[in-house]
Amino acid sequence: AGETQTYLYDMSEGNAQMRGLLGGKGANLAQMKRLGIPVPDGFTVSTAACIATTEAGGEWPEGLWEDVLASLARLEERTGRTLGGERPLLLSVRSGAVVSMPGMMDTILNLGIGEDTVEALGAEADNPRFAWDSYRRFLQMYGEVVEGVAPHAYEDELTALKARRGVEQDTDLRTEDLQELVQTYLEVSRRELGRDLPTDPRDQLRGAISAVFNSWDTPRARVYRRANGIPDDLGTAVNVMQMVFGNRGDTSATGVCFTRNPSTGAKELYGEFLVNAQGEDVVAGIRTPKPLGEMEEVLPEAYAQLVQTMHDLEAHYKDMQDIEFTVEDGTLYLLQTRNGKRTAAAALRVARDLVEEGVLTREEALQRVEPGQLDQLLHPAIDPEHGRSPVTKGLPASPGAAVGEVVFDADTAAARGGAGEPVVLVRYETTPDDIHGVIVAQGVLTAHGGMTSHAAVVARGMGKPCVAGASGIRINTADRTLTIGEHTFAEGDLITLDGSTGEVYGEALELVPPQINEDFEAIVTWADEVRRLGVRANADTGEDAAKARELGAEGIGLCRTEHMFMASDRLPAVRQMILAETEEDRAAALETILPMQQEDFEAIFTAMRGLPVTVRLLDPPLHEFLPDLVEQSLLVQRLELTDGDPAELTTARALLGQVKRLHEQNPMLGTRGCRLAMLYPEIPEMQTRAIIRAALAVREREGETAGVEIMVPLVAYASELRAQRAVVERAVAEELESAGAELDVTVGTMIELPRAAVVADQIAQHADFFSFGTNDLTQTGIGISRDDAEGGFLSAYVSEEVIPHNPFESIDRDGVGGLVRLGAEGGRAAKPDLKLGVCGEHGGDPASIGLFEELGLSYVSCSPYRVPIARFAAARAVL
Ligand code: PEP
Ligand code: MG
Repeated sequence: AGETQTYLYDMSEGNAQMRGLLGGKGANLAQMKRLGIPVPDGFTVSTAACIATTEAGGEWPEGLWEDVLASLARLEERTGRTLGGERPLLLSVRSGAVVSMPGMMDTILNLGIGEDTVEALGAEADNPRFAWDSYRRFLQMYGEVVEGVAPHAYEDELTALKARRGVEQDTDLRTEDLQELVQTYLEVSRRELGRDLPTDPRDQLRGAISAVFNSWDTPRARVYRRANGIPDDLGTAVNVMQMVFGNRGDTSATGVCFTRNPSTGAKELYGEFLVNAQGEDVVAGIRTPKPLGEMEEVLPEAYAQLVQTMHDLEAHYKDMQDIEFTVEDGTLYLLQTRNGKRTAAAALRVARDLVEEGVLTREEALQRVEPGQLDQLLHPAIDPEHGRSPVTKGLPASPGAAVGEVVFDADTAAARGGAGEPVVLVRYETTPDDIHGVIVAQGVLTAHGGMTSHAAVVARGMGKPCVAGASGIRINTADRTLTIGEHTFAEGDLITLDGSTGEVYGEALELVPPQINEDFEAIVTWADEVRRLGVRANADTGEDAAKARELGAEGIGLCRTEHMFMASDRLPAVRQMILAETEEDRAAALETILPMQQEDFEAIFTAMRGLPVTVRLLDPPLHEFLPDLVEQSLLVQRLELTDGDPAELTTARALLGQVKRLHEQNPMLGTRGCRLAMLYPEIPEMQTRAIIRAALAVREREGETAGVEIMVPLVAYASELRAQRAVVERAVAEELESAGAELDVTVGTMIELPRAAVVADQIAQHADFFSFGTNDLTQTGIGISRDDAEGGFLSAYVSEEVIPHNPFESIDRDGVGGLVRLGAEGGRAAKPDLKLGVCGEHGGDPASIGLFEELGLSYVSCSPYRVPIARFAAARAVL
């Protein structure tokens, strides 16, 4: 080795902590050796050697080969065998990355067998057939993996030989057959490569180690790493071990097992084995393995030892283990142990059981579950056994799976969904006009719009699956069809959405129902004991509020009153209010709306009795409430051309005039939020009256009401909040006076514009609380449109790794997170006890919750179905 770098470790030198250098497999093998568990002897070439080789374009670092030879010599001495010698040492050469990448990288077994050693090996085992079997396996593996010969070149010959012999199983081939096969394989290699395979086992060893190094950087390995967020510069280790043989006869076997059932988490024996076989036979599915329990009869001693070892390993690692083993002539060896992959349901059950068994503390158990696993269990999911491929993929906008018939407009969805048919609403994008269709649909699929698009926000709020921004779909409005690649779907055809992954399937898949069970409750309750952050919900209806409370919300952090306006019985009145040209018209519209609002608030306050509810005053991007300019123009034109009903034409023209007047190029930066309320203070005044009347009515009826917090949206200037606060306070005072009642009401503001974050100290003078609107803060802080960016450059930015993730999904720590920090510091500088919440979509994102915990905010608020995840993530953030 170079003076500074050690590339080689004998198995006995390592331990489980050396994962970075030895890879997961190498570190765990070394650890098992330390624990006195039988593993084959060997050595590990470190990840550092792989990295150095990759960096040098495949050239091994100086001294590495000499080190390998030295390690090999020591191994030969310890085992009393020699590579290529009379008592032959056979080796396995296996990859072992730091993070497991199942099946992605290469392995070579039986290295060291050849013309000179096959007889000796057969004689030693008193089983020539086994030796020739190992030989032909080696030739195929080396040819494929190291030399790149296509697998079928060998497989075809094997199939032909079995056909000639009239046998089905490889195990039915006799020694002579295998000898013949070896000759054939040598010829195949010569034919395919134009030369012989190397025959010196040392050359083969060098080739095998190089092949494993190279397999780190294949396109498929890179794709896998990208998909799983594994860095490209970790490298893989190479484990070189003495072969143990599961194919030495009927007292030999190979198998895999889990210490618990990885589907259910149940504490039971789970695994399979094959007598007289090597590991690849199990993987390749050539022979059907037997349930592990049957091993007790065939190989009782090895079985007893295996069961004990499984127990020991689980106790040592304090987690469910996934184990590979081989029995050679009745002697058990472990080839690998690792923490077992498991379903979400199993993850919770295992974590909970390990606490009950006294193995883990509750805090440790919380660290064994991933937030995404809770999420999976909260929603119906596609049966994991489906084995089908998606036809396209969009953004995973709202989790859960939905199956239904394609419909293209909300009215059809409402009619058919209302009649109990399962429908999936497919739209270019949704608007508030579609809400009645969304409500009855199983799920929503849009071609355009991102994680905070209307469809996404509304669907998440309802716990309804949604795939948004699926730019690969074409909706053909003329013939009412949907085209995805080469598939075309007519209205009524079945599709399946997976809102947790963004995948869309062109057929009906089986779903499994949500699984909120006792394990789930236990884990989330433990999280409550640990977390510091409060968790509230974003909810706009009594029903959502009740759901949120059931899922553990400690209040409402954001009630978007504009969503209440979207119901079809209100939209006309709301339009009338927005479009009113005179004060009288507006007053009349408000008059109609007030009782409706009051009714809504009563439902919410009733559901949230005793808990705080933040009601946000109207924040309408006007375009969401008005007819589309282009559509309205077309309507007028059509009426003109067809000599339609003159009255209808007049109305349409008038509406077009108003739409033109209010049209904004950039409605998200237009007359939104408090800006509308600044122009028409009668709107916040009406809303405040409705809030107070509702609170008093609920208290009267229920004996208790919710804590009333009124929030002003999209504030940039302290003067805006001062003015709005005055309007609100006046209305509160008048209502309370006329009712002869008292009620605590606080008034606060959203911090969702960069200017507000910068002047937070000024704004705080007029605020009882802040709530960070990280959706708009992302939009305005980075300067990217919530509605358009995700279909466009943003996805390219993410896939090209210009930025690490979509900032609407998970907060941009440095930039937008910096604005939140600034706002929090400014607010607290002015008012040390200022309550600080977050109500953007990031309030339900585990990584963002980590940042909010660091910043010491008071609570997060998220959609009801994310509440358990937020409770859990808030606990993880302090652990
Ligand atoms: C926000 O901007 O983060 C927010 C919560 O408000 P909305 O999404 O309604 O604009
Ligand atoms: Mg906002």
